[in-house]
Amino acid sequence: MLDHSKTALVTGAGGFIGGHLVGRLLADGFDQVRAVDCKPLDRWYQRHPGAEELSLDLMEADACLVACDGTTYVFQLAADMGGMGFIERNRALCMLSVLVSTNMVRAAHLQDVERFFYASSACVYAADKQDTTDVNPLREGDAYPAMPEDGYGWEKLFSERMARHFYEDFGLETRVARYHNIYGPVGTFEGGREKAPAAVCRKVIEATRSGVDEIEIWGDGLQTRSFTYIDDCLDGTLKLMASDVRDPLNVGSSELVTINELVSIVEEIAGVTLKRRYVLDAPQGVRGRNSDNQLISERLGWQPSTPLRDGMERTYAWVYNQMSAR
Ligand code: NAD
Repeated sequence: MLDHSKTALVTGAGGFIGGHLVGRLLADGFDQVRAVDCKPLDRWYQRHPGAEELSLDLMEADACLVACDGTTYVFQLAADMGGMGFIERNRALCMLSVLVSTNMVRAAHLQDVERFFYASSACVYAADKQDTTDVNPLREGDAYPAMPEDGYGWEKLFSERMARHFYEDFGLETRVARYHNIYGPVGTFEGGREKAPAAVCRKVIEATRSGVDEIEIWGDGLQTRSFTYIDDCLDGTLKLMASDVRDPLNVGSSELVTINELVSIVEEIAGVTLKRRYVLDAPQGVRGRNSDNQLISERLGWQPSTPLRDGMERTYAWVYNQMSAR
């Protein structure tokens, strides 16, 4: 159990998952939640009146000390990231997040934080275990021998190990989740950093509105993924943080779909059928990826359960409202 009378810090709080996590901690009864992001406050996705909100660049070691000062729990979610289009074209930027991860875990140690959560990613998994569409679900051990996603995945794998060594060498209690494609309302749906679920919602809405009735799909549409709804991500994050599990755990849905199937779900929600135009040289990431949930089920007695269709309905409705409000 986490002690709700203590102070919790969420970094990356101006972004998608961090914004939801701040709201969830407040709703769960945390008295003091500190929310930090480098974006100016007026660009945060969500603002929570009950939280202490700070705009700080956590690449700077001093800023991390300020952020961690007086906190008991740290949720380290800040990173420069996006969907495949962003991470394949911005490898150096993604790797520079190592400054945030390193300075944050060090500051947590120096400020006597009790527990440190690090948001890792399924992008740590070795590429050769994800080269077919009917991929074996990824078990936590499949991250080694290491050959993660170039740039972004290497940073995540390095920072996971750093968290582990801060426990082994300094006794800082660390928890690491490997998130698998988190999606839901109040996330990025345009601008180049969006991921497939929100991007598909936007493209379907654009296609129907423009009357073009065609959708562009990156790759041949046969590549497979699982997508994890934000509520499951928050549940998994908090259960893991409250647990005694120091090894990384997958926080990912095991409902595998092709990108074509994802598009069909959104078409069905929107009540349209579009012509598909495949862009074969667009960024696609690995050929297939799914989450093996045996370990998280054993250790936490839980795994993500929101059906993709349900989560996509809520996501589509939110994207639709955002685009209609303009
Ligand atoms: P996001 O881009 O919406 O949020 C990340 C936030 O971090 C942004 O608001 C950004 O401004 C902030 N940030 C970046 N650099 C910073 C800095 N130097 N100082 C302070 N803040 C900084 O991304 P998200 O989807 O909410 O992801 C949150 C975390 O979860 C990230 O660490 C990400 O790598 C990880 N993750 C996400 C997914 C996913 O599918 N969304 C999957 C795997 C891992």
